[in-house]
Amino acid sequence: LVSRQTKSEDTIIRVKDAIIGGSAHVLIAGPCSVESLEQMRAVAAAMKSVGAGILRGGAFKPRTSPYDFQGLGLEGLKMLKEVADEFDMVTISEIMTPSQMEAAAQYIDIIQIGARNMQNFDLLKAAGQTNMPVLLKRGIAATLDEFVLAAEYIMSEGNEQVMLIERGIRTYEKWTRNTLDISAVPLLKQETHLPVLVDVSHSTGRKDILLPCAKAALAAGADGVMVETHPDPQAALSDAAQQINIDQFYAFWSGLYGSGLYR
Ligand code: PEP
Ligand code: MN
Repeated sequence: LVSRQTKSEDTIIRVKDAIIGGSAHVLIAGPCSVESLEQMRAVAAAMKSVGAGILRGGAFKPRTSPYDFQGLGLEGLKMLKEVADEFDMVTISEIMTPSQMEAAAQYIDIIQIGARNMQNFDLLKAAGQTNMPVLLKRGIAATLDEFVLAAEYIMSEGNEQVMLIERGIRTYEKWTRNTLDISAVPLLKQETHLPVLVDVSHSTGRKDILLPCAKAALAAGADGVMVETHPDPQAALSDAAQQINIDQFYAFWSGLYGSGLYR
């Protein structure tokens, strides 16, 4: 079902005013974790002023250590929705278990399935049984075959609204948090009809090369990019090192827009 051979035209996903796939690019931004209404409003206002309409923010967080901040849960989803409604934006948040799907349907527009859950087959099936768009992240050590088969799990349950996002894979390289596999972009565009995005934050884990990596993503044919943005990254409760602040978000946006690659 994911294959270009079964469907030659690009899948385009429409959620409220947002269109993902097709001829226009999308810039998805927002903090790693939803922390407060004020935090979400600061990011949403900046995004809105440049026309970026898809707000992300994790509420159920898959943290490596059980002692790290685990997210605000349902309260976080409610905050995300409240701010998105104020600014008329579309929301994305990670869902970690099938039992959270109901809350997802109530509070968010797009379900994110995280890298660590890319092969959580019960979760993939549960997402496939909803009628919500799903942003599927590539697993930390997933091959492209495994990635597209994970998408196939969702689609085979009847949900065709799937987008793929390359977020870096684990290699021996230590200068970046993960290794951005840019070749995944043209390959996934070629082999599947689904929208393909690039998460420049989790793939690099650092702020200083976000713009060139985002340009590379668009030049390679990606339908958009995701960047973690926080009003006060140093105080962030998760992924403090890689999140950009509001000024840096504006600089990132103008750099991307000014490159002529973003349309
Ligand atoms: C995230 O988007 O905040 C996240 C946890 O990403 P990943 O699943 O790619 O690590
Ligand atoms: Mn994060």
